[in-house]
Amino acid sequence: MNKGRTEINQLGEFGLIDRLAADLGPFRQSGTRKGIGDDTAVVESQGHLQLITTDMLLEGVHFDLSYMPIMHLGYKSVSVNVSDIAAMNGTARQIVVALALSNRFSVEAVEALYKGIQQACEDYKIDLVGGDTTASRSGLVISITAIGDVETSKITYRNGAKDGDILCVTGDLGAAYMGLQVLEREKQVFLANPDMQPDIEKYKYLAQRQMKPIARTDIIHELSDLNLVPTSMIDISDGLASEILHLSKNSGLGFKIYEDKLPVDQMTYQTAVEFKLDPITCILNGGEDYELLFTIDQKDYESVKNHPDIHFIGYASAEVEGGVLITKGGNTVSLKAQGWNHFPGN
Ligand code: ADP
Ligand code: MG
Repeated sequence: MNKGRTEINQLGEFGLIDRLAADLGPFRQSGTRKGIGDDTAVVESQGHLQLITTDMLLEGVHFDLSYMPIMHLGYKSVSVNVSDIAAMNGTARQIVVALALSNRFSVEAVEALYKGIQQACEDYKIDLVGGDTTASRSGLVISITAIGDVETSKITYRNGAKDGDILCVTGDLGAAYMGLQVLEREKQVFLANPDMQPDIEKYKYLAQRQMKPIARTDIIHELSDLNLVPTSMIDISDGLASEILHLSKNSGLGFKIYEDKLPVDQMTYQTAVEFKLDPITCILNGGEDYELLFTIDQKDYESVKNHPDIHFIGYASAEVEGGVLITKGGNTVSLKAQGWNHFPGN
């Protein structure tokens, strides 16, 4: 190794971002409210808060077109951005789409990708207003930037959790990860014997969660109708444990969660067992769920306690560091972030 050379995998993705962010210095624009470190940047313009976020998906790293229909990929690349805007308690309004394409892709393939993007724009009621197109030497890269907004009184950062707040999660966890395992297995079966047809009918829910995640804009609307502003929020892209640790680091307190409160679909559980994986590990570290993780003040519990899709998994505690899981057997286990790390060797 060269002297003075640091490998990226020594720092990891978050370590690298922290290091780059530390050198940026103070903001030059008075409108810049939040820079690096939350689900979106926040910019104030004439009393309104604009939200900006970007996500890049690379063939061979984030998706595999041998089982992912390109239309779904279009949909997913919009969802992941809309999910980050939702995580600020905001509403997405517009997207711009940058594509890098190798000559493996036909016009029809790109049209199919756009069909998925358009479907998502329709579902989320947003407009596609521009982008960039360039050649790629290896496969497809799709990078989407979303713009949204939020009322000043409703913006929800990662840093607002208070001692005693209730930790909530929407939907169920681990299904997208198990969907990936199923799709990868079927791909191997197909590669070994192309006459074999993929057998994913039974695992349809899991495959769908992996290939076509839907951002929880419904929850943002419902919370708004209830006049409930979470004290902190993040979306689950890297796995529950990793996101809890982000809330913990930003809010300056810890979290206690309970194994028996973690929401999991039966199919996720059964498939994890079938694959000889620990279901709890899939729930905690699976990733790509694109559900919302947020804290609420205890006084707000009454108004959401009967919500069928919001689960109360634990609470914020100044007495805990990071995150701890209380198992069904009563043991206490520290949460570790084993989320996606795309840098090889880490
Ligand atoms: P999310 O999972 O919510 O999309 P990320 O983990 O990708 O968030 O990013 C965390 C924070 O770091 C965000 O505020 C994002 O804008 C910022 N960030 C990520 N990569 C870079 C980069 N290369 N330069 C500057 N900021 C970055
Ligand atoms: Mg996010």
